[in-house]
Amino acid sequence: MGEQDSYTNRRASDKQFTLLCIDDESANLKILASIFKDTYKVVVCKQPKKAMSMIEDIMPDLILLDVVMPELNGFELYEQLKQQPILNNIPVIFITGLQSAADEEKGLVLGACDYIQKPFNYGIVRVRVNTHMEIIRQRKLLESLANIDSLTELPNRRKWQEDSANQWNFAKANCKKMVLGIVDIDFFKKYNDAYGHQQGDIVLRKVANAIRRVLFDHGGAIYRCGGEEFYFYIPIEKNMDAETILAQCLESVSALEIQHQASITSSILTASIGAVEILANEDYSVEQLLSIADEQLYQVKNTTRNAVHYIRIPA
Ligand code: GH3
Ligand code: MG
Ligand code: MG
Repeated sequence: MGEQDSYTNRRASDKQFTLLCIDDESANLKILASIFKDTYKVVVCKQPKKAMSMIEDIMPDLILLDVVMPELNGFELYEQLKQQPILNNIPVIFITGLQSAADEEKGLVLGACDYIQKPFNYGIVRVRVNTHMEIIRQRKLLESLANIDSLTELPNRRKWQEDSANQWNFAKANCKKMVLGIVDIDFFKKYNDAYGHQQGDIVLRKVANAIRRVLFDHGGAIYRCGGEEFYFYIPIEKNMDAETILAQCLESVSALEIQHQASITSSILTASIGAVEILANEDYSVEQLLSIADEQLYQVKNTTRNAVHYIRIPA
């Protein structure tokens, strides 16, 4: 094994990455599996007609795709893949007995990231796949960094825009209920003024974490979308009482017992929540729901603070 190869293997050898090999010949699948089984999670598929549902199930990081197969050839399968919005970013390498430059060109023009001809040299296949996996690993790292707020390590507004739209679309398609809302820390400007901005940062992290845990336990998620403002959603299952879950979020903040002498309503740091619970329907967008939640938040801020204001649609 060359130096480059062992280097790449070392970086990806925790088997976080899934390689799907699609080929109608068992012998080829065996060879590919034996080359990569120690480096990646390898899944093989011998029936091209079953490949699409398998791809949806396992969401592989990279696909090695044979071209000449009965019933559905690799080019056709690839075109089906390209039509699926969630799957069309999965990189594909064609690995095929087709020898002509025209076929190779066709595969690459379609959008494959590489084209390997059979019979293949094991070492070359290994290095090429490892190189692509390394690019995939770096791309994922960049994506995750771009989606994360560095102070609280919560997902950021950009990620919120993506996820909230997906959640809302899913709820609409499945006639589900969902809760969407805003958490805002009470008198946080006064907290900074009294204890310093650096201490304010520490508190932001603690509050974010406390609420994240409660929401996460109930299938929800929270995002840092402003200075001391967080957006969240909770997909509602059956008889779930989301209002109580949100009250628990505020209790988890009080339980931190962060002294706040400058607060006008409490001796410790508190937060307020405005939220809307809605049976998903086409009449509302995420932005409209946020503005309804914001009205609820405004009401809390004008009354007690440290409380949840919750509205149900339909009432
Ligand atoms: P209210 O109870 O009405 O929400 O009052 P508030 O002071 O919390 O709200 P306001 O919107 O007036 O002020 C928000 C403050 O949050 C102002 C700013 O100093 C602070 N803040 C925003 N981002 C950060 C941050 O990253 N770190 C720290 N330490 N403070 C921040
Ligand atoms: Mg505030
Ligand atoms: Mg605010």
